[in-house]
Amino acid sequence: MDRHTISAALLALAGAVACPAMAASASVRIPGQVTTELPRDVRPSHYDITLNPYPAGMRFDGEVTIDIDVLKAVDSVTLNAVDLQFRKASLVAKPGTRAAPLQVSVDSKAQTASFRAARAIAPGHYRLKLAYDGKINSQAFGLFALDYGTGQAARRALFTQFENSDARCMIPSWDEPEYKATFSLHAIVPQGQMAISNMPMAAQHALGDGNVDVQFAETPKMSTYLLFFGVGEFDRLKTQAEGVELGVITRKGASGQAAYALDAAKGILHEYNDYFGVRFPLPKLDNIAGPGSSQFFGAMENWGAIFSFEHTMLLDPAISTQRSKEGVFEVEAHEMAHQWFGDLVTMHWWDDLWLNEGFASWMESRTTARLHPEWHTELHAVENREGAMVQDAAKTSHPVIQHIATVEQASQAFDAITYQKGSAVIAMLENYVGEDNWRAGVRAYFKAHAYGNTTSDDLWQELDKVAGKPVSAIAHDFTLQPGVPLIRVDAAVCKDGNEVVHLSQSEFRKDQGAVTAPARIWLVPVRLQTVGTNQVVQALVKNGAADVTVPGCGHVLLNAGQAGYYRALYQPELFAGLAGKFAELPAIDQIGMMTDSLALGLNGAQPLSDFLELANAIPVQANPQVWGEFADKFGLIYQEYRGDPVRQRQFGDFAISRLQPKMQSIGWSAAAGDDEGIVNLREKLIRALGELNDPVTVAEARRRFALRKTDPAALPVALRRTVTQIVAVHADAATWDALHAAAKEEDSRLVKEELYNLLASSEDDALARRALDLALEGEAGPTAAGSMIAAVARRHPELAFDFALAHLEQVERVVDASSRSRYFPRLAASSIDPAMPGKLLSYANAHLDPSARHDADEAIANISYRIAVRDQRLPAIDAWLAARHG
Ligand SMILES: [Zn+2]
Repeated sequence: MDRHTISAALLALAGAVACPAMAASASVRIPGQVTTELPRDVRPSHYDITLNPYPAGMRFDGEVTIDIDVLKAVDSVTLNAVDLQFRKASLVAKPGTRAAPLQVSVDSKAQTASFRAARAIAPGHYRLKLAYDGKINSQAFGLFALDYGTGQAARRALFTQFENSDARCMIPSWDEPEYKATFSLHAIVPQGQMAISNMPMAAQHALGDGNVDVQFAETPKMSTYLLFFGVGEFDRLKTQAEGVELGVITRKGASGQAAYALDAAKGILHEYNDYFGVRFPLPKLDNIAGPGSSQFFGAMENWGAIFSFEHTMLLDPAISTQRSKEGVFEVEAHEMAHQWFGDLVTMHWWDDLWLNEGFASWMESRTTARLHPEWHTELHAVENREGAMVQDAAKTSHPVIQHIATVEQASQAFDAITYQKGSAVIAMLENYVGEDNWRAGVRAYFKAHAYGNTTSDDLWQELDKVAGKPVSAIAHDFTLQPGVPLIRVDAAVCKDGNEVVHLSQSEFRKDQGAVTAPARIWLVPVRLQTVGTNQVVQALVKNGAADVTVPGCGHVLLNAGQAGYYRALYQPELFAGLAGKFAELPAIDQIGMMTDSLALGLNGAQPLSDFLELANAIPVQANPQVWGEFADKFGLIYQEYRGDPVRQRQFGDFAISRLQPKMQSIGWSAAAGDDEGIVNLREKLIRALGELNDPVTVAEARRRFALRKTDPAALPVALRRTVTQIVAVHADAATWDALHAAAKEEDSRLVKEELYNLLASSEDDALARRALDLALEGEAGPTAAGSMIAAVARRHPELAFDFALAHLEQVERVVDASSRSRYFPRLAASSIDPAMPGKLLSYANAHLDPSARHDADEAIANISYRIAVRDQRLPAIDAWLAARHG
C-alpha cells in the first residue's frame, strides 16, 4: 500500500499513516507457529464468487462456493465475516451428493461466522456454499462507492479495498494472508459500464434486464487482501509490454491525464522482470484511478489491478508540476514492486509486514533513481531515513518485525518504521553486501517462495548464502530491536598518511533520558572517507566500538554516502574541521550532516549552533536539493516557535535572509535551461518563504493570484498550486469566500479537492472554524471531510482536535471505519500545548481498546518531546541570533 495521502502532504510534521481494519479479538499464538485468529483445522483452496451490487441502495448480495479441506473432524467451520447477513449455508461432500444444511452463528466482535453441521464433519474435501447480503461503504474499505459529478452528471463508481483485513466485508473468507487460494469472480453489472478485477474478463452474457453477467478468469493462488473488483463508467488506455497487457483506467473522459502513468508502467515492468528474475505472471496489469481520497492510503497493490486515488496517479495539466510527475512515478514503482514483494510472495502474518512495505519503498527509491537519474531522487534518502528516525528515537517505537496480535494492530503497523526504516535498513544492507550479491539473494528468494508465504529469515538465509558476510546478524540487530544507533567519532589521528579513527556506539534517544533501559548494541556497517580523497573504507562497529584506518590524512567523514541507519556525532574539533569543508562534500553528505546536526542539537547531544553555522555557511551554488532541505529545516524550527510570535519572527527573519538570495538568483519565472532540480526548488522556496510569512513572497503571490484571470503568464501551471496555497494560508474573509466559490464551481475533481483542502489551510482562527463546519456539511464530497479536518489540524491542532471530539459521531462517519484509533491522535500531533497530552490520554482512555493505543501513546510522546525542545533548546537559537546581531 502506498501512504501518499492528501493530508500526509499537508501534515508535514505529523506522524504515521495507514489503512483500514477493525475490532480487536483474541489471537492464537503457538510458539514456532504463525499467528491466527481462525482455527487451523480447515483450509480453503478455491473461491467461486458471484457478486450482485445495488449501488443506489448501497448494498449487494453475494454467493460463494468455497472448496475446503477439513484436516481433522470438526463440528463446525469458522471463517471471517463482517456485516454480512447469511441467507443460506450448506456443505456438499462431493459433486452429486446432497447439500447438508448448516446453522449459522455470527460473532461480530471476533469478526467471524461459524457454520455448524447436524453431525461431525469428517476429514476430507468439501464445498461450502453460502448466500448472503452485505453493504457498500461510503469510505474506502471493503466494497465502497466513490461519487463524483453533480446534477445530471452525478455518477457512482464502485471499488474494493481489502488490506489489511476487509475482504471479510465482501466475502465470507479465511481472511488472513497465509490462507492463499485461487479466486473466480462473477459480477452482475449494468450494461455499458466497465467491470475490472485482478484477471481479464473471460466471458460475459447479457441478462436481458439491462445487466450483464461478467466472469473473470481464475486468479493464481493468492491472499484474500489482494482481490479487487471495480465497476463504473470508465475509460481504459492500454498497451502491450513484455508480453503483458498494461492498462490505465479512469473516469470517462479523464484517461488523457493517465497517459504518463501508462508510459511509466512500461519502463518499470521491464526493469522489474529483469531485477526479480521471475517475470510478472499475470496476463494483464491495470492501474485504476478513483476520484476522492482516504486518510490512510494513496494506492493499493491488488495483484494485476492496482487501485490509486486520482491525486496519486493523474496529471492534470491545470495544476500538475514536475514534482507531481515524480510522485506518480514513485507510487507506481512502489505498487508494481508489490506485485512481487507482497503479491507473488507474501508474509505469513502481519509481524513481517515490512517485507512488503520496506521492500516496496526501497524498490520505489532505487527504481526512480535508476530510471530517472536526471531527477536526483537519490538525494531524498536522508529525508526518508529521517521520517523513520523521528519515530524510532522515541520510547514508543517498536521493532521493524513486531508481534501483531489483532487486525487493528496490523492496521497500526502501516507506519514510518515499517516503511521508511524498513527501506533504510535494506539500503544499508545492500550497500554492505554489494548490488550484485543483493540482487542474487533476492532472485533466489523469489525462485524458492513464489506463490508462497515467508518470514524475514527466509530472505536472510538466501542473502547469507550469496554474500559471504554476516547479513543475518546485522539484519536481526536492526529489525528485532527498536531504536537508532548513535556512532560517535571520538578521535582521529594522522599516522603514516592515514587517519586512525576511534568510533563508539551508543543510542540516539529523544525522550528517554530518565529511562534506564539497558544500552542497546547493534552490529553496524559503517563507511568512512577522508574529505578530498575518493577512497571509502567499510568497517563493522561491533560490541559498541571500532578502530578504523581511513586512507589519507585530513577531515574524516562518517556515513559517507549516507546509506547507514545511524546518526553521526563528532568530537567538537572534528566537527568544526569538517564544517570548514562543508562546501566540498557531496550533496548527499551535506544533507546528512545538516540533518544529524539539527536532530542532535534538538536533543542536546551537540550544540544547536553547529547546525546554525552550517545554515549560515551554505554556498549559493550548493545543489538545489541541499537548499530545499535547508528550507525544510528552517520551516521545522519556525513551527517549534508557534505560539511565541516575537521570537518566531526573529528566527523567521534569519531564515528569510538565508533563503531570499537563493530565491532571487533563480527568480519566480521559469528560465530556459532550468533543470528539474531548479524547477522543484523554485516551488519549494516560494512555499517555504510563504510559510515563514515573508512579506515580499506573500505580496508577490497575492499579486500574481489577482492577475490569474487577466494575465495567464502571471500564474503559470508550475506556480499555480504553490501560489494558491500561500494566498489561502494568508487569506482574509473575502479571499476565503472567493476560494470557496471557486471550489464549488470547479469541474476538475482533482483541483476541486485541492481547493477544499486549501480552504482548511488558513492561519486565521475564524476561517479555520468555518472550514471545520464546512467539512461536516458534506459539500466537498463524502471522502473530503476527513482530509479537511486534518488540514485544519496542521495549523490549529487544538482547535481541530476539540472540534472532532465535540462532533465525534459525525467525524467517525467520515473516517475509514477502523482507522479511528489513528485519526484522532494525528489531529493532535502537531500541538505544542502542554494541555494536549492530557486531553489525548483522556480520549484514549474513553474511546480506545487497550490494544489500539499505540498511535495515541506515540503522539503524546512526540508532543511532550517538542514541548521540551521549545523550553530547553530554542533559547540556544535565540542566543545565537542575538550574538549575530550583537
Ligand atoms: Zn506499499
